[in-house]
Amino acid sequence: MTTTETYDAVVVGASFAGLAAAGQLDGAGRVLLADREPVGVGETSACGTLLAVLERLDAGDALEQVHPTVVINVAGRRVAFDTTYPFCTFDFRTLCEILAGRLGGVEVAVAPFKGIEHDGTLVLGDRRVKAEVVIDASGWRRVVAGALGAAPADRGHLSTGVETRHHQGGCPLEFWFRPPERPDGVFWAFPAGDHVRKGSASYAGKAKGLREDLARFEHVEDFPARAVHGGWFPARLGEPVAERAFVVGDAAGQCLPLTGEGIRPALVFGQAAGREARAVLEGDRSLEEALARYRATVVRSRLAYRVLERFQDWSVRLPVPVVAPVVRGCAWAPISRRLQATYWSVADPDTLEVSPGKRPTTSLHSGCCETGAAVAHRKAPALGDAAHAG
Ligand SMILES: Cc1cc2nc3c(=O)[nH]c(=O)nc-3n(C[C@H](O)[C@H](O)[C@H](O)COP(=O)(O)OP(=O)(O)OC[C@H]3O[C@@H](n4cnc5c(N)ncnc54)[C@H](O)[C@@H]3O)c2cc1C
Repeated sequence: MTTTETYDAVVVGASFAGLAAAGQLDGAGRVLLADREPVGVGETSACGTLLAVLERLDAGDALEQVHPTVVINVAGRRVAFDTTYPFCTFDFRTLCEILAGRLGGVEVAVAPFKGIEHDGTLVLGDRRVKAEVVIDASGWRRVVAGALGAAPADRGHLSTGVETRHHQGGCPLEFWFRPPERPDGVFWAFPAGDHVRKGSASYAGKAKGLREDLARFEHVEDFPARAVHGGWFPARLGEPVAERAFVVGDAAGQCLPLTGEGIRPALVFGQAAGREARAVLEGDRSLEEALARYRATVVRSRLAYRVLERFQDWSVRLPVPVVAPVVRGCAWAPISRRLQATYWSVADPDTLEVSPGKRPTTSLHSGCCETGAAVAHRKAPALGDAAHAG
């Protein structure tokens, strides 16, 4: 029979939310970060976020391209939003490696979560693990919360998307809102320096036909199977606590409805949960107090999530000619600035830390459409290659 290992904290899921939570726990005790895949593998996202996110995490090496303008194409018109915080695209693997590289005192393991035994022991691959603090960062499937008896993700409020890479440069970052080929969703093109990530999503969670739509959008007959990745993302805020576990990121429905922006909330709420969990390990508060404080932090944004969810519902139900003037109105500078201030205040990037209590010292240059370090690293020939070429 396998022996039971004891940890102070276990984080399940090593993507944005899990890495953020584990980062806050580093050095506070015996901590295990487990994922079914190695860190940096299994990208589902278009990897667009605020430049401020990379800046606050001191993760400039992951930067691909800066986008101070976001264009929304609706009813055949291009509507440009000048974002108060510039947007950017980043390299998934590089960001994950930067965050994982700082986890000196955390054990990182490839070990799929398989279940929880009646005494609370977690089954992770062929290991059996007990921990006082458990954090579910397993994405929309919320495997730990589910095993603890929480309801599964609400299928009626799950969006789905697929994405591919096109080898061309470009600017700016663009969306096509409810195009004729995808009346219940969006297409997007996210330039990332040496390529553009193009995708198609359905707000109604209809995965069928997304790939074919994307092929039409891309003007290709078909994609080879490996050229497309994708997945589901929630459009309704869920319960951030399941029994005695913290639930973070998509596992708690923290992806923002309408925009589908889930990376920033996963990082911000991931760190918030990690900070509370650290206080438990350091004896500053009980687990019950920490769970209640984390829950209160998330619930503070509940109204904003509800409003965005309503907007998503309306924008899909109303005829496009009715939605189009609203989108144009929202881009008018005085309105746009107020809307953006409210929107960015949910999962405020300014709360992010490089490591517990440490703020970044450098700021990232944000020239329009400028490419970043991740693209330069991809282009730079390895030393051996250069010698060979010479
Ligand atoms: C096509 C697409 C494009 C998107 N583009 C953007 C974008 O540009 N910007 C943005 O902000 N958001 C985007 N999103 C949303 C964003 O990807 C998610 O909100 C974000 O990834 C949530 O992060 P997370 O850490 O909570 O979960 P995830 O990133 O889903 O990570 C969950 C982790 O848990 C692991 N896991 C799952 N099951 C188990 C198990 N049984 N055992 C162990 N580990 C497990 C997984 O391997 C994974 O590493 C996009 C989503 C999709 C589908």
